[in-house]
Amino acid sequence: AAHRIDGRVVAAEIDARTTDDMARLTAAGIVPTLAVVVPTHDEGTAWYVRSIARAGKRLGITCLVDTLHGADAATLAGHLKARSADPAVHGVICQTPLPAGVTLADLGTAIAPVKDVDGANPTSLGLLATGSAEAFAPATAQAVLEILRHEQVPLAGRRVVVVGRSTVVGKPAALLLLAEHATVTVCHSRSTDLPALCREADVLVAAVGRPGLIGVDHVRPGAVVVDVGTNPTPDGGLAGDVDPAVAAVAGALTPVPGGVGPVTTALLHRHTALAAARASGR
Ligand code: NAD
Repeated sequence: AAHRIDGRVVAAEIDARTTDDMARLTAAGIVPTLAVVVPTHDEGTAWYVRSIARAGKRLGITCLVDTLHGADAATLAGHLKARSADPAVHGVICQTPLPAGVTLADLGTAIAPVKDVDGANPTSLGLLATGSAEAFAPATAQAVLEILRHEQVPLAGRRVVVVGRSTVVGKPAALLLLAEHATVTVCHSRSTDLPALCREADVLVAAVGRPGLIGVDHVRPGAVVVDVGTNPTPDGGLAGDVDPAVAAVAGALTPVPGGVGPVTTALLHRHTALAAARASGR
């Protein structure tokens, strides 16, 4: 059976690095602060925001939760700009889902790239594509990399297949994997013969949003499978994009919940501490 990769262990390791930075920042009188803008009422989002705030509190990072349910694009952009301009705020993120008619393209540019700790500004994606060390990658895409690094999965020259091409997960994950010298294939809803493409993967990343889409016939025996999907189940739980039966074939597999999710949260805080350190020159 596949080795079960524990995201909480990876998250704890990232938190330990953040704690080191916090000691330095606190000594200098700096309180890293993350502004979380919540533009709609959504159970899943509310749960996630509470977990961000809880983790922040543990680390000593202040989380300002700005609830602007149903605000229009101009109001939200104005708010994100104001938070970006506030010297007491080091990181700014905007939660999804967005209100009807508002797109991330309307809002991303309102977040200053130096405070864009979840890589929402197209400039951040551009910096990522060009390999700039200044860029913050979207935390979820970065989480995929941190998990593979923690598990010491070799990437240089290996075949990686990313299923999903969204701007927040699939595309930036593919860019980060390319930077590690993997041979990356990106699949999506129009890809033909997805199982055959996926079976070529040494490392398979599923970021689709369809429970159980990735089945046993998608996985080469021994492959490392990272499941980014978070699909609410009728009983109030969470299911990944990967069929649990894949555990019989894969070499290693991230669970949902308890895989990519906790690492994503740890990275948001890590990025916020880094942004605070950069802003203060420490
Ligand atoms: P999205 O809907 O923006 O993109 C989905 C992608 O999947 C698209 O590129 C689409 O082409 C592709 N796709 C759809 N159906 C497909 C099919 N049948 N075969 C192959 N490809 C298909 O979603 P997203 O924002 O990228 O999120 C993906 C998943 O990751 C969701 O379940 C989301 O909840 C989850 N997610 C998790 C975290 C986390 O922290 N764990 C963070 C962000 C997103």
